[in-house]
Amino acid sequence: MKYEEVDGICAFSFNLFGGKPVKARVLTRNGGISLTPWNSLNLGGTVGDEPQHVAENKNRVMQAYRLDLEGVFDVWQVHSADWVYATNHRRVNEPHQRADIIITDKPGLTLMMRFADCVPLFVYDPINHASGMAHAGWQGTLKNVAGMLVKAMKEKFASQPESLLAGIGPAICMEHYPVGVETFAQFKELPGCAEESAVSTSNGSHHLDLKKINELQFRLAGVNTVENSSMCTACQEELWFSHRRDKGRTGRFGAFIQLDTVMK
Ligand SMILES: [Zn+2]
Repeated sequence: MKYEEVDGICAFSFNLFGGKPVKARVLTRNGGISLTPWNSLNLGGTVGDEPQHVAENKNRVMQAYRLDLEGVFDVWQVHSADWVYATNHRRVNEPHQRADIIITDKPGLTLMMRFADCVPLFVYDPINHASGMAHAGWQGTLKNVAGMLVKAMKEKFASQPESLLAGIGPAICMEHYPVGVETFAQFKELPGCAEESAVSTSNGSHHLDLKKINELQFRLAGVNTVENSSMCTACQEELWFSHRRDKGRTGRFGAFIQLDTVMK
């Protein structure tokens, strides 16, 4: 991934979307106005931060990236594998739909999600000029969110998995992600996980590499081109919010994807 700073907003972009008519960014925690422990670019509205601060943070992101505040579609992320086809922005006072996958083929519409350790997933279909994003924590990963995202793109836009470009953003690393023995047992059974060392046991504690498991799921769904971030949200406190590291007292960093308008 590539670091950038735009009008004080610090973010990363994927190398594989470079030069493509799509804008995808994972925003860091830097460039906002929220106070500790939400410092500073918190976009989470339900984590105890001042609503005015969250609103101002969102404003700054919109302005920096020349996005239309009235052109955002977001969801209530519930650790599901359910998807929504977004055709229009979510209006003020319109309740969030519950879902963890959003897809669109509408240029100019900004799909947005929030993270603090869970895995941000992005796809772009250069043939059909369509895109999608998803939120994959351990529950979503167990439900194969990455595979469902690909399936949704196939169903709605006739995307061919082998032509999709997939990006996996910063998320918690294996070392920082111990899980209970029952959770671990379920992941051990998933295709490829044990063989590819995406799960590990050391000194009696059980760990998951969520980013790697999501990459495996993309590949099993037929996606060949995957860029997987090496960054860990818990390791890099200066860049990311981490739910595990901060024991729940933390913010959410944002991520978005938006299709450019192109001549068809
Ligand atoms: Zn880590």
